[in-house]
Amino acid sequence: MTQKIYLNGKLVPREEARISVFDHGLLYGDGVFEGIRAYDGRVFRLSQHLDRLYDSARAIALKIPMSKKEMEQAVIQTLRSNGLKSGYVRLVVTRGEGDLGLDPNNCGKPVVFIIADKIELYPEELYKKGLELVTVATKRNIPEAIDPRIKSLNYLNNILAKIEAGLQNMSEAVMLNKDGYVAECTGDNIFIVEENVLITPPFYVGVLAGITRQAVMELAREKLDLVVKEKVFTRFSLYNADECFLTGTAAEVIPVVKIDGRKIAEGKPGKVTARLIKEFRDLTKREGTKI
Ligand code: PMP
Repeated sequence: MTQKIYLNGKLVPREEARISVFDHGLLYGDGVFEGIRAYDGRVFRLSQHLDRLYDSARAIALKIPMSKKEMEQAVIQTLRSNGLKSGYVRLVVTRGEGDLGLDPNNCGKPVVFIIADKIELYPEELYKKGLELVTVATKRNIPEAIDPRIKSLNYLNNILAKIEAGLQNMSEAVMLNKDGYVAECTGDNIFIVEENVLITPPFYVGVLAGITRQAVMELAREKLDLVVKEKVFTRFSLYNADECFLTGTAAEVIPVVKIDGRKIAEGKPGKVTARLIKEFRDLTKREGTKI
């Protein structure tokens, strides 16, 4: 069966899903997107993803040409028509076709497309062994320039950090903000555990408001009875943490065991992390909008 792509209100075969070379999403990274997951017939926290999409769009003064309700239906329709009960959804809204100038006022209607596909999972072994990370020289965008809360189509900041990690034969980078505070990884939020307190950087440091981040903070409070704090911290706290893990739609909750050559505690995934991996997986089975 050929893959069906949702494009501006229609489901079209993959080969016919084409957009203009004059689209400002392509020419300037002018647009917003979401990465969403479906688990066993349910879309996880779809309304939170759509809220974030519409907030990102508003922040760049882009009016999405359909309501959230219509967008929800479009996501579900795309999954259904591809026969997917579990998978990954990429939802993109671009500024649309314009001319070679920057001015968004010269663009026509925003373009909306949705791709539903199988998900490439991290090897299960990584959840047992944990990841090794490096901090990189490229700083996270400053909120005063492009706020990292905007999930925009311009991911060069993150890609540059990913390239730097690759040059050191590492798969993932920790990004600091311009003041040296820990922000996030290239596509995941970061947490540390310090004496039974769960800590993650606040938004103003320059991080995306991760949907998984939010879910994990809730689970830590409700199921693990942990104190959860959004607090700034430096690399010193990373190196001296009891535990460290990342959160994201694709990765879910994944342990980190080494950063910049320093082992985190004993260099093994921690107990809190292991419990949160389980609690999060349970949550994805309970919650979600039916496909
Ligand atoms: N930070 C960045 C920069 C990301 O791209 C992502 C993934 N979309 C995340 C964090 C994690 O967010 P979420 O849990 O919503 O996938």
